[in-house]
Amino acid sequence: MYYDTHNHSQFSFDGARTTLEKSTASAISKGLGGICFTDHCDFYVPEMKADFEPIVCEVFDVAAQQQEIDSINARIAGGEFGREAARKFKVLKGIEVGMEEKSRPELEKHLSENCFDQITASVHYLEDSDPYYGPYYKGKNWKEAYGRYLEAYLREMKWLGDRFDIMGHFDYITRYAPYPKESILYRDFPGLFDEILRFLAENGKAIEINTKTYKTYRMRTPQLDRDIFIRFMELGGEAIVLGSDSHDCEQVGYRFEYYAQFVKSLGFRRLAHFENRKLKMVTI
Ligand SMILES: [Zn+2]
Repeated sequence: MYYDTHNHSQFSFDGARTTLEKSTASAISKGLGGICFTDHCDFYVPEMKADFEPIVCEVFDVAAQQQEIDSINARIAGGEFGREAARKFKVLKGIEVGMEEKSRPELEKHLSENCFDQITASVHYLEDSDPYYGPYYKGKNWKEAYGRYLEAYLREMKWLGDRFDIMGHFDYITRYAPYPKESILYRDFPGLFDEILRFLAENGKAIEINTKTYKTYRMRTPQLDRDIFIRFMELGGEAIVLGSDSHDCEQVGYRFEYYAQFVKSLGFRRLAHFENRKLKMVTI
């Protein structure tokens, strides 16, 4: 069974609504094969965020999180979560790194000093702002706002090189954007998408379907564009992961059956996850 590769626990600055234990129990009850905890690691947080909420450290304590994961895995193996889970369910050690040019030196050091099963690379902040709040969109039309977000991904993923496994929520920006244009479509950025998808495909990296993005939020419901994945396949890409981006235990595995079928309908037969930074594929 496939994995939920994007989850936050109490170790994330915004993860207080769940615990590693509760979200693991939820993943087991939903029949998933495993769960990866990708707590937040953003070394750079824009100053403007302080206008909206208190600034806190957004880098989680890796040693504490991994110790907790080891202890949960030991309890699972001991049968505390059922015989089925004891046989095959895995809790994996992940990280969601927030890519930003200014944090490169700290990020580089951090990744060289720690070991993970899986490294998900995301963009949360750009141009000294947090797209969750308004200022990023000021003076930009949708095409500039979405395009510059994708460009930031491409630039920082190329810099990260072999220090990451998964491109996280490329579509995050659409969740909070103020435009009637709700979705990022391949046809709006074919050149940029080709460069991103080719880079991922050629380097054996995965693209994430972040199922949280496609929830209705403030009356907007972004749509996942099939053309992005069809093109990924044409360019030799194979690895697609499902991530719920859960911050509470109910969200774990959100709409995975639907998106597994979506992926299958495009001709992919397997879904990916990473263990000890090695690509694993599970038949859908
Ligand atoms: Zn994220």
